[in-house]
Amino acid sequence: MSASKLRIVIAGAGPGGLTAARALRGQGFQPILLDKRPADALFADVGGAYDIGREVLSILRALGVEDRARASGMRWKTLETYDGQGVSIRSMDMSGLEVVSLPRPALQQTLGEGLIDEVRAGTEVVGVAQGERVTVALSDGETLECDLLIGADGVHSAVRRAIFEDGPPRFCQAMAAWGTLPVTDPSVGAFPADSGHLLLGPRGSGVGGGMPDRYVWSVLWPAAAYEASGEPGARNAQVRGVVAESLPALLPIVEATDPARVAVVGIWDRDPTPRWSRGRVVLVGDAAHPTSPVLGQGAQSAITDSFTLARLLGRHEPEQAIRQYEGRRAPVVNDNLRSARRLNRLWFSPNPALQWANRLILRWAPQRWMQGGFESANRANEVGDLLGV
Ligand SMILES: Cc1cc2nc3c(=O)[nH]c(=O)nc-3n(C[C@H](O)[C@H](O)[C@H](O)COP(=O)(O)OP(=O)(O)OC[C@H]3O[C@@H](n4cnc5c(N)ncnc54)[C@H](O)[C@@H]3O)c2cc1C
Repeated sequence: MSASKLRIVIAGAGPGGLTAARALRGQGFQPILLDKRPADALFADVGGAYDIGREVLSILRALGVEDRARASGMRWKTLETYDGQGVSIRSMDMSGLEVVSLPRPALQQTLGEGLIDEVRAGTEVVGVAQGERVTVALSDGETLECDLLIGADGVHSAVRRAIFEDGPPRFCQAMAAWGTLPVTDPSVGAFPADSGHLLLGPRGSGVGGGMPDRYVWSVLWPAAAYEASGEPGARNAQVRGVVAESLPALLPIVEATDPARVAVVGIWDRDPTPRWSRGRVVLVGDAAHPTSPVLGQGAQSAITDSFTLARLLGRHEPEQAIRQYEGRRAPVVNDNLRSARRLNRLWFSPNPALQWANRLILRWAPQRWMQGGFESANRANEVGDLLGV
């Protein structure tokens, strides 16, 4: 079926959905992109920083948005590591690594350039059925018929729930919070401006860094169970408690952050699987393979999945494109998933000996070894022959 005739619906306008829409348009398709969040929330100033490596930068180049990404992100000169009290532990030179750190809204705006007005916002997928075509039930009572549904609807994917029936994702016994505040806030001045900052406390770790227009921080901490957070005030109190106990050096920054700019999330994953599709319904990004963020791969994998799928759809019939997409992506993504799971266990272990070993590695491991780990995770995002149209 020709590109103009294949009707494609994309559920979810995060990094995965936006990339899919952008790349499919480049192949002559006219996909419908919808998201349950209202338009002003899709690009809202909430979320952490994403590290985007060389491989994904080359995808952004192929999509025509690399310059925008580089202009709205930062290449940090060093990664400064501290203990929770702010005592310096080590400084790692980052100049040899081609990594741009981008705040989530900047990544969303970069990928959404020229698409933002076309997202059908405030529209939730509530059901999916497959016969000859795919029927997508929406929260407003409407149903959409399509030839292909791309589920880019995140960790708790409704598309996955409707089609895979394989239960909810697994809680990784860890919680995360993100926050953002003006880079000119006096609390930020305690850390060097052109570096990323990693803080290692006894129970939890923090990452922060300056961007062109803001300071972005995130905190990760172990939790026996998912601690659902309430309205903004309660959320901020929850994060403040963890930070006051384990990462006091970050407390002034957390306290200076507007509670509306703090997000608290659980960390979830799933067992690796070789298939992310059923018939004409195919999953990308966190919907397909939620992963602990310890390797910094979530948004990068979502972008690479969607780009790969879109380029293959431009070259092959849908069934063949989907098979090739799974064949290319699942083995490398599953390797990263297993590594992230191992690292997650070490990072959030309640066992003091393991915690001590973890801190020792971060303090003393050779720089080349640490950078090699990051580069090898990023190699999963090489798309090789698909970059050329
Ligand atoms: C602490 C932390 C740090 C992280 N750091 C990094 C990092 O450094 N680098 C990195 O690459 N990744 C990182 N990640 C991971 C990253 O946030 C996600 O993995 C990434 O956003 C996945 O993209 P996605 O498009 O698949 O899903 P999402 O970004 O979750 O987008 C899904 C979209 O679908 C919409 N949606 C959900 N349900 C429905 C529905 N039923 N109908 C319609 N729309 C729906 C949502 O509103 C949302 O807009 C981090 C995650 C955490 C928790």
